[in-house]
Amino acid sequence: MSKPLAHTEPIVDLAVIGAGPTGMACAIEAKRAGFTVILIDKGCLCNSLFHYPSNMTFFTTPELLEIGDIPFPSPNQKPNRDEALEYYRKVCEHYQLDVRLYETVEQVRGSDGKFTVHTTDRFGRPLDHKARKLVVATGYYDLPNYLDIPGEDLNKVSHYYNDPHPYFGLNVVVIGGKNSAAIAALDLWRHGAKVTLVHRGAEMHRHVKYWILPDINNRIKNGEIEAYFSSSVARIAEDTVTLLTPEGERTLENNFVFALTGYQPDFRFLEALGVRLDEKNDRCPACDPQTLESNVPGIYLAGVVIAGERTNEIFIENGRFHGKLIAADLVAKNVSAAAFD
Ligand SMILES: Cc1cc2nc3c(=O)[nH]c(=O)nc-3n(C[C@H](O)[C@H](O)[C@H](O)COP(=O)(O)OP(=O)(O)OC[C@H]3O[C@@H](n4cnc5c(N)ncnc54)[C@H](O)[C@@H]3O)c2cc1C
Repeated sequence: MSKPLAHTEPIVDLAVIGAGPTGMACAIEAKRAGFTVILIDKGCLCNSLFHYPSNMTFFTTPELLEIGDIPFPSPNQKPNRDEALEYYRKVCEHYQLDVRLYETVEQVRGSDGKFTVHTTDRFGRPLDHKARKLVVATGYYDLPNYLDIPGEDLNKVSHYYNDPHPYFGLNVVVIGGKNSAAIAALDLWRHGAKVTLVHRGAEMHRHVKYWILPDINNRIKNGEIEAYFSSSVARIAEDTVTLLTPEGERTLENNFVFALTGYQPDFRFLEALGVRLDEKNDRCPACDPQTLESNVPGIYLAGVVIAGERTNEIFIENGRFHGKLIAADLVAKNVSAAAFD
């Protein structure tokens, strides 16, 4: 491995890991409070949102996605992915955020007041950033909940749904019973795929949005989308999928599988930072609810990572307020005055 590039940058008060809506809100609030901030992301700005389905519409009205007190104008009651990306790009420009894109944070060394953040760029070249305090706002969308079944590693299986067109006329199995699975099944069916939905529950999950539920239930009732409830996928092969149903095993002809069974925060990354996880409480990380500082002094947590495995508790809607709490604590601790030796 080559040596880290020579460190010529000034030490910043705050390095925010993750440039999603929450990380951006943290950077904005810290900057508004007078601190120097860098924002580091392993992908593009709002990398998770960029990888959401191309036809997706948010569940939330635009004003609930706003950060930094910048209005989100949209002609739609619920904005789509492209509008949201446009909005967050404009907010980033407005606040002139110092964003380091396509840099993956691999490791953090040091302690409160003197952290060194080790990253690698797209070409595997190492870089270092020095910061007095850190925010971890790494979200949850990078790590799917795997099913651990034979065939899950075949290249016809994906844990991310993007676009319906490639599946026109083909047999597609969608695994899952929540919003992502319902939306993908409907989108695929509307664009000419032959869709089978497989869900371990007896019906669609109660969290499916009220305007999506009748749509999916009616498609199933009409036989337009085939559904197996109280069922699971036992194995996946090149041309088939085998289900365990209440009536016994069923093997279906199959071309593609979308396993949309949720995602989880990068717990290993949090533990490597020294953050304690509560194994008896859905792996929630130790975190002061007033300041969002973790058990590691100087390391703050923001956004969905705070909720551990309960990823349906924090969204953009509420995570966007975390930046204000953290900035208030940085002010209280007079961070810029701290020396970095
Ligand atoms: C299909 C879908 C629809 C949704 N609709 C809504 C909605 O309508 N309303 C709503 O409020 N919420 C919605 N959500 C949830 C919401 O998008 C997430 O909760 C939100 O993105 C979390 O924001 P975040 O900033 O915490 O994390 P993210 O947006 O996931 O950002 C985390 C960032 O961290 C980066 N990162 C991760 N690890 C590293 C690393 N080691 N080094 C550098 N960078 C790293 C990632 O690349 C990513 O850009 C939806 C989610 C999905 C999947």
